[in-house]
Amino acid sequence: MSNEAAKPSVEEVKTNFIYQEIDKDLAQGKNGGKILTRFPPEPNGYLHIGHAKSICLNFGIAKHYKAACNLRFDDTNPTKEEVEYVDSIQEDIRWLGFEWEGEPRYASDYFEQLYQWAVLLIKKGKAYVCELNAEQIAAQKGTPTTPGQDSPFRNRSVEENLDLFERMRKGEFKDGEKILRAKIDMASPNMHMRDPIMYRIIHRHHHRTGDQWCIYPMYDFTHGQSDFIEGITHSICTLEFEVHRPLYNWFLDQILDGEDAPAVRPRQIEFARLNLNYTVMSKRKLLELVQKGIVSGWDDPRMPTISGLRRRGYTPESIRMFADRVGVARRDNVIDLALLEYCVREDLNKRAMRVNAVLDPVKVVITNYPEGQVEMMETVNNPEDETMGTRELPFSREIYIERDDFMEEPPKKYFRLGPGREVRLKSAYIIKCEDYKKDADGRVSEIHCSYYPDSRSGADTSGIKVKGTLHWVSAAHAVDAEIRLYDRLFMDEAPDAHKDKDFKDFLNPESLSTLKGCKLEPFLAGVKPLDHFQFQRLGYFSADKDSRPDALVFNKTVGLKDSWARSNK
Ligand code: ATP
Ligand code: MG
Repeated sequence: MSNEAAKPSVEEVKTNFIYQEIDKDLAQGKNGGKILTRFPPEPNGYLHIGHAKSICLNFGIAKHYKAACNLRFDDTNPTKEEVEYVDSIQEDIRWLGFEWEGEPRYASDYFEQLYQWAVLLIKKGKAYVCELNAEQIAAQKGTPTTPGQDSPFRNRSVEENLDLFERMRKGEFKDGEKILRAKIDMASPNMHMRDPIMYRIIHRHHHRTGDQWCIYPMYDFTHGQSDFIEGITHSICTLEFEVHRPLYNWFLDQILDGEDAPAVRPRQIEFARLNLNYTVMSKRKLLELVQKGIVSGWDDPRMPTISGLRRRGYTPESIRMFADRVGVARRDNVIDLALLEYCVREDLNKRAMRVNAVLDPVKVVITNYPEGQVEMMETVNNPEDETMGTRELPFSREIYIERDDFMEEPPKKYFRLGPGREVRLKSAYIIKCEDYKKDADGRVSEIHCSYYPDSRSGADTSGIKVKGTLHWVSAAHAVDAEIRLYDRLFMDEAPDAHKDKDFKDFLNPESLSTLKGCKLEPFLAGVKPLDHFQFQRLGYFSADKDSRPDALVFNKTVGLKDSWARSNK
């Protein structure tokens, strides 16, 4: 597949099967032509690249149909949810370039309504208070091919159930002592229909409702009704919820029974969740990496979180491009991490300023260049974008080049510097290596060169032909920086797919290397956190969020080499 072929056209993107289903609904006049989607995160962690796909899909549909998309926090579990997550989720969605309709919504805003619906189900004989514990329920659940057993509490009277449920709400029972279950069918081939739990007792402070409640609805008793309350027309979710769909419909059927047909009944459509190789994507596992200090935080640049990618130097455009290219599938698949890297490289190639940075510096003294002289060399900011203009680089007698751009005994095909060899310094002169010095450990410590005064870039009359061009920085003008290089966090393609091993067994011990004393051209002293650059010949880098003028820190976003496009040719 060539790069061009890999690029879906706008048309292709908008004709994925979800758009087709929505078009059909519109053609049939469903919901009076109304479209409303939602993105429903649980605030129990930071968003990751998988969520980005769901965000692009839900907000993308809204944009395409000139409709709206709600943000709703599915905050039904007070033991795992935190305000920090609520805030980070909003920041990440906005950073990706999307805006929800009105204020964020919360499933917890619907707790009273959900409670009333639960009471309604009890009154209809469709729900009961059960006293089995988790193990007993599991033991009675049966298997997909054998029916489960009825709970001994299944046939309690409506009155008794109403009384017990009310006392559950009042806090008369301890955690786990009682639950409310739907009374559906313990022999259903769909395990989710075997008297699923609707409410459990959790004596815990909730980030929004405080201590108002000590019973909390299960996600399954919350999600579908929350969509219904908000008038969501298309409830897009990942495939694992396909088997929950009959249950959501069953709850709505009970609630709406006997009422006039509602204006809008949400239609659930499932798509395959995004999986990336060499990555874990479950929030529980990402949280473990954070809590155990294996990474520096949710926004560690090695994390697949949106905040980690942002800190690494990814742009919103590159993540949206990635979501588009991955497309929407009905079957689970694993996407190559290299595609994500390809997208950011494509985007930064267009917009990133080309600058000079020497990561592993060795000094070059240009012996025939006048001491104390400084020339300003004009250089192009971005050959891909003329409008970005030019800037001037100071050139002087002592410069730094990369240590690996010099070899004492270079092989034939090595076009960089070696004894007696000539190279061009980018935007400056051609130099020739005359001599070099080594330190006590045998490491090259200084290279002596001469330069050709008539070889100045843009005004070269020397007639000398060289094969290599090196980047460099003037020693007297350079600024120091710390540069962090990253490798995959995991060494295995599917770190969490091994039955007998823990995903942490596959951590890459060399996923972070920190280089100190790197030399940058002086322009970079003034950059803002998260500014993007191409360090010539090295890759794309961006200033870390904690970078300061007196303590510059850069993260490597991605290298220049495109392994994805190559392997897909
Ligand atoms: P995780 O399993 O990573 O903890 P989750 O599904 O529990 O994620 P939610 O906060 O419930 O996380 O997800 C919010 C929305 O994002 C849901 O609609 C969910 O389907 C979607 N989503 C989560 N992970 C992915 C993924 N890998 N690919 C696509 N969509 C995803
Ligand atoms: Mg979830």
